[in-house]
Amino acid sequence: MARSISYITGSQLLSIKRRPNIAIIDVRDEERNYDGHIPGSLHYASGSFIDRISNLVQEVKGKDTLVFHCALSQVRGPSCARKFANYLEELKEDAGIKSILVLERGYNGWEAAGRPVCRCTDIPCKAETASN
Ligand SMILES: [Zn+2]
Repeated sequence: MARSISYITGSQLLSIKRRPNIAIIDVRDEERNYDGHIPGSLHYASGSFIDRISNLVQEVKGKDTLVFHCALSQVRGPSCARKFANYLEELKEDAGIKSILVLERGYNGWEAAGRPVCRCTDIPCKAETASN
């Protein structure tokens, strides 16, 4: 039973990201350090994604919708989303995740559209996902 991965647009994400059951996962690598990020997003760099995938499962406990993105969401974002979906399928327990999404056009599209960005250097980002 392969999980399907769908795309979500920036405006769709903006309208649902206030919900407490959503986690946004940034899989960019070092760019996160000098570009901004989506407020409240988690950082799981694609380069070490597989090594940290079990941490990610723990960190998103209680969430049912995960939104992955990289800079453009063309390569790293979709491939990490797929790796995560495959990992969940191999897990014996149900992690409670109902949908795995990829943000269309990635962080660059999000920022170019003038949507809220955070430039903190906190790990993890403490900005509310809801902040606009
Ligand atoms: Zn931040």
